[in-house]
Amino acid sequence: MTADTPDRTRQPVRRVIIAGGGTAGWMTAACLGKTLGKGLDIRLVESDEIGTVGVGEATIPTLLTFHELAGINEQEFMAETQAVFKLGIRFEGWRDVGQDYIHSFGMTGTDHWTAGFQHFWLKGRERKLARRYGEYCLELRAAEENRFAHLPRNGLNYAFHLDASLYAKFLRKHSERHGVQRIEGKIAEVLRHADGDIAALRLADGSLLEGDLFIDCTGMRGLLIGDTLGIELQDWSHWLPCDRAVALQTQSVQPPIPYVRSIAHPFGWQWQIPLQHRVGNGIVYSSRHVGDDEALAALMGNIQGEVLTRPRVIPFKPCQRETVWERNCVAIGLSSGFLEPLESTSIHLIQRGVIRLLQCFPNEGVRQVDIDEYNQQTRNEMQHIRDFIILHYKVTNRADSPFWDDCRTMDVPASLQHRIDMFRESGRVFRMPNELFAENSWIQVMLGQGITPQQHHHIADLMDDVELNRFLEEIRGRVERTVAQLPPHADYVARYCARP
Ligand code: FAD
Repeated sequence: MTADTPDRTRQPVRRVIIAGGGTAGWMTAACLGKTLGKGLDIRLVESDEIGTVGVGEATIPTLLTFHELAGINEQEFMAETQAVFKLGIRFEGWRDVGQDYIHSFGMTGTDHWTAGFQHFWLKGRERKLARRYGEYCLELRAAEENRFAHLPRNGLNYAFHLDASLYAKFLRKHSERHGVQRIEGKIAEVLRHADGDIAALRLADGSLLEGDLFIDCTGMRGLLIGDTLGIELQDWSHWLPCDRAVALQTQSVQPPIPYVRSIAHPFGWQWQIPLQHRVGNGIVYSSRHVGDDEALAALMGNIQGEVLTRPRVIPFKPCQRETVWERNCVAIGLSSGFLEPLESTSIHLIQRGVIRLLQCFPNEGVRQVDIDEYNQQTRNEMQHIRDFIILHYKVTNRADSPFWDDCRTMDVPASLQHRIDMFRESGRVFRMPNELFAENSWIQVMLGQGITPQQHHHIADLMDDVELNRFLEEIRGRVERTVAQLPPHADYVARYCARP
């Protein structure tokens, strides 16, 4: 449509079009608007008629970094999105029916040692000196006791449960304050230059949105990156069996707890995410093992409080887009692929996508080296998270259904098998460069799912029982004293949100 110039790809980027206004679209708009907004013309198009996926309410601590970058005030954000604090996820019945554990944020024990704390704990357990692994973690104990406060130094590592639709509205206001223009309309056609780059979006009313850079935030549709540019999805369903969810909201019947409940079922798992004003519920399941009606019945049989919304079935594919930056189009959010919500990582991946885009922003024009770097980093990041999620399904004692039999006996990526073998044999875990989940996350989940390391690091044997007992008890005592001083979580949220 537009005249093509010989070296169009190296033209400066000034006009940014964000296609889609879900969590991904508005997070992108908020961050680009605040940081680069002065030099850019940023427009976001979304369709009220199409709507958003409407789920995605549990986050991880990296969201604090995003808020800092986007200039978001925490109290204002929490008050407007009915948010509460999150300290981890409680996995119920994942290792086996009736066996629970918490994967909490923060650190267990201390890291002032040559070997990780788990080696001292393993030795302590052998000598019958150690308690539950979680008793040495402040965040975990605070979660169990339903307490929270911002602590002055070495505070709690936390994230939030938030209302997804209120969050999009909040980010919209914030983005508009920084000059982002919102356009309501349905994208009817994507127009391309002669060289294949995207030139403009034609809306259903005939209007044209021309741009230099297009951010595809159209959700699972992937209107630009998939339908237009033809970038395929890499299917991971042979490792991640769940491919559907049913979501609904209920009234709160008790003060909100600061963790997500992830409750294993014979064919998947159920989430409960409490907010200030309601609870988000859903069940994630494998359509090869159960039908929608049975999954919904299992969900309805295990919720409390009046149901506020009609149950909504959401089909999905566990996948990664082969490349997420192609030509002058970057896919952020569900358009870039999807890893199921077991560890609340999708909003984090949106934020990583936006920050990486900022770092590689093509002010002087789109360059292939930036594209390659962006795609490689995204690929690595997704694959690390993928392995961590598969771990929960693979390492289990559950043998009560074909679903769990399939999970327990499946082959997993070599990268994951290596980690499982290393931990089982030696108690060692190493975080990969730029990996989201640190050693403590891997250890909590591997122990929680039932791996008992056969050995510990020799350094732990250099402590005698008296020393080891003192060392473990000092940590545990410090944790317990701190937790005892924290106010109830709900009281703290109410006070904190009352004075934004
Ligand atoms: P969407 O919300 O689908 O937004 C797409 C946007 O594109 C909409 O504004 C839509 O109107 C617009 N659009 C599409 N087509 C057109 C068109 N033709 N014209 C104009 N506009 C168009 N993430 C977490 O971090 N934590 C969680 O706990 C979590 N739970 C989840 C549970 C489930 C069951 C699922 C499926 C996902 C979950 N996620 C979670 C992921 C999270 O919901 C998404 O990452 C997040 O909402 C971002 O979605 P999005 O903005 O990419 O897509």
